[in-house]
Amino acid sequence: MSLNTQVKFNSVYGPVNSWRYGRSLGIDPIGPVSTCSFNCVYCQLGEIVDKTRDRRIFIPTAQILADLQPFAPWDMDIITLSGSGEPTLAANLGEIITEIKNLTHCPVLVLTNATLLNDPTVCQQLALADKVSVKLDGVSPEKMRGVDRPVAGIELSEIFAGMQKFRQNYPGELGIQTMMLSPWRTDERAKYIEWVKAIAPAEIQLNTPTRPKPLKHELDGRGNHEPESDRPYPVQILKSVSRDILQQFADEITQATGILVRYAPAK
Ligand code: SF4
Repeated sequence: MSLNTQVKFNSVYGPVNSWRYGRSLGIDPIGPVSTCSFNCVYCQLGEIVDKTRDRRIFIPTAQILADLQPFAPWDMDIITLSGSGEPTLAANLGEIITEIKNLTHCPVLVLTNATLLNDPTVCQQLALADKVSVKLDGVSPEKMRGVDRPVAGIELSEIFAGMQKFRQNYPGELGIQTMMLSPWRTDERAKYIEWVKAIAPAEIQLNTPTRPKPLKHELDGRGNHEPESDRPYPVQILKSVSRDILQQFADEITQATGILVRYAPAK
């Protein structure tokens, strides 16, 4: 990492217009080096540089609060912790959420891959957020490994157990986000429905890749991308499913569970 990269890093980005959450200001508690316990094939950060499940402080809370100041009076629908990797890896997650809420009075959302939900400290800190959205990209270990490519030692059964436990104690709004790269088999869809019934989220978001994947981490991967012709870095085209497939699966889930399912609008 060059000194130049360090100087230019800002832990607050956007605001971006989220099709689900409205006007959202992004907080990156991870920093310029992409860091995650997954290395999803579709990740907009490109190939994850630091693949780890170890928590640490990446960006001091005071820096995040200072970076937020120019955005006052924070006229946002939500403030979202996501950024350059998995936000629950930030050991100061709880302090960040509390201090952002104190400063901005905006609701806080955390997007998480749910791999650390077996850690009671992570759950306690995460529960301070108004909304949490957990990733569930597959209901078989093979699919999860193929799509999310976790670091060694992360098992789907433990992720699911962690989600259920977190759900029991979480007073806020829990959502599930699922990325579909290809149509799912009947047995996969049935098992997914069984699992979401057990978690009982407020809603489910079905996604499919709508933009190419940068091959390496570009800080604009945290927010809205430039049009393709203005993108100065190499990208990879990803597999995706049609809106019809998303809609059929969404209808199937809602009919079986009564849970609201949203899917990304066409681009
Ligand atoms: S969990 Fe999120 S940040 Fe991590 S690799 Fe997957 S898409 Fe990227």
